Amino acid sequence: MINYAPMMTITYRVHDAIYVNLTNRCPCACTFCLRNNARGVFGSDSLWLEREPSLEEAIDSVEGWDWSRFGELVFCGYGEPTERLDALLAVASHMKSHHPTVRIRVNTNGLSDLIAGAPTASRFAGLVDCLSISLNTDDPEEYLRVCRPRFGIAAYPAMLKFATDAAKFVPEVVMTVVDVPVTTLDQQERCRAICARLGVRLRIRRYEAKGGNPPAPAVGSAKAS
Ligand code: SF4
Repeated sequence: MINYAPMMTITYRVHDAIYVNLTNRCPCACTFCLRNNARGVFGSDSLWLEREPSLEEAIDSVEGWDWSRFGELVFCGYGEPTERLDALLAVASHMKSHHPTVRIRVNTNGLSDLIAGAPTASRFAGLVDCLSISLNTDDPEEYLRVCRPRFGIAAYPAMLKFATDAAKFVPEVVMTVVDVPVTTLDQQERCRAICARLGVRLRIRRYEAKGGNPPAPAVGSAKAS
């Protein structure tokens, strides 16, 4: 029997998907991060963890859901999921073995190569069906100013390289920006051109002033990573 720490929201439901909250660590400090002004998302309990769940706890929590009712498992919580890449891939592997029809998605800032200190894209092969990477902007300087990655100016090109590499190993790679007024139409077109060059798809995420991304700066994200 696993004893969970109080308020440990390891998995939570968002519409027809189950989300996995593996860590609160993140190499960024985005000015728009939802963690700055809410304890959870979409009515979840707090996503702040007492401690990081073990792999056993994560799998146990995932298995607590009725998988005949849900079609997708999404790694996305109050932190960057690839900070725990080994655990993430182990949970994904478990799902592929036990619930092979469930789609596996990772919402990420795309900095896993820098976090791991090595190329990581090939590790997602066969385990992850979709990578959703926050592009946020077409401008590396703006990315640095707003996302404040601890890797500095190297973060933006590393994120683009990860997306390019990932497209070779993951069936669907999507890069995201938030719609007007967070980005301008001109910015969106430049982001679309970047994605076309990388061979991935751009998704314009809906702007939600309340309960989603705050109205603040020039770029933003409605999700915690
Ligand atoms: S928005 Fe995502 S990448 Fe940015 S600080 Fe929050 S968790 Fe990290």
